[in-house]
Amino acid sequence: MKKLIIANWKMELSHDQACSWLESDLPDVQKTLSETPHSLVICPSYTVIPYAISLYPDNLWGAQDCGFKERGPYTGDVSVLSLNDLSLAYCLVGHSERRRFHGETDKRVAQKVELLLKHTITPVVCIGETAEQKNQRSEVLKKQLSALLPLYAQYQAQPVIAYEPVWSIGTGIIPSSDELKAAVIVIKELCDPLKPLILYGGSVEEKTVQEFSSLVDGFLIGSASLDPGRLKKIIISC
Ligand code: PEP
Repeated sequence: MKKLIIANWKMELSHDQACSWLESDLPDVQKTLSETPHSLVICPSYTVIPYAISLYPDNLWGAQDCGFKERGPYTGDVSVLSLNDLSLAYCLVGHSERRRFHGETDKRVAQKVELLLKHTITPVVCIGETAEQKNQRSEVLKKQLSALLPLYAQYQAQPVIAYEPVWSIGTGIIPSSDELKAAVIVIKELCDPLKPLILYGGSVEEKTVQEFSSLVDGFLIGSASLDPGRLKKIIISC
């Protein structure tokens, strides 16, 4: 089945390193992708995106975040208007690193989701519980999603939700299949009657993908997406 694979490059590569990666490694990754039914979205740093698009206009590109207002005195933010000018298809929102290091609240996430939906850029909303919240997973997911759901109804858009247990990101620790199944059921119930696309994120590796592929619609990949060889193995295993 066709999967949506999203590569989140975070702030791992410098501008020049990212451009070299795209120049030398993306053609090979694209070749692998073309032998599968899957889609690949790469989310590099903002600065890299215009060059990436100029090199590979047919690839799918995404941003890692966006500003919560369309324009104004918001130093350092990048407006959805700019993402729209670049015809970006996707934008990550509410990643746990944004929530943790930038104090991003559910309200702020909802503001960004609304702007993205208004400009028909697909928000990829990241949700998930911390290690301390493991016993309250349903409540946490409900709280993170509740302000967003009316927006999807309003804009008649399909939610794209990345379930990323925070304790799994960058740790090499992954949930059991039963834990993931439980989270998927909770997300589907919360979104009902909307039919969300649900991705899994957190220490995604080739073997994780083989184990989880039947349970989700795709994957959000962090560190493994920086290694072209690992990325190709993930694509093939989906
Ligand atoms: C992420 O941060 O979205 C992520 C999934 O990271 P990693 O794959 O490195 O755990």
